[in-house]
Amino acid sequence: MKQPFRLALIAHDQKRDDMVSFARAYESLLAPCSIVATGTTGGLIQEACPTLQITRVKSGPLGGDQQIGALIAEGLIDGLIFFVDPLSPMPHDVDVKALMRLGIVYDIPMALNRATAEVLVQKKGLLRAD
Ligand code: PGA
Repeated sequence: MKQPFRLALIAHDQKRDDMVSFARAYESLLAPCSIVATGTTGGLIQEACPTLQITRVKSGPLGGDQQIGALIAEGLIDGLIFFVDPLSPMPHDVDVKALMRLGIVYDIPMALNRATAEVLVQKKGLLRAD
């Protein structure tokens, strides 16, 4: 049986509306995925898209990005959609950088804006490699 695609979703404060609108637009494609999200982002997506299965970790500034990084290092994440705010300074900037580094190290599909996220969900089809 095909295993569900394990997708991580994160959005910075100024990008939350974009993430919710993205999740709403692609809810049916995301529905079969096993989703893990940072605290606030996950709560908002869940409220907007009740059909999605979302496991929430801590909020990003409280360690959520690092928790997702650890899941990537364990081989438990197949793709990351991270709507980054490039215009605001962030207290957890080092965590954000560390998470992106792990996404590169483990070569997982990693979308940092909506245009790339759309390519990921539509073209890659959210299929697991194994
Ligand atoms: P949040 O965390 O979803 O809890 O806001 C995201 C972040 O700021 O990294």
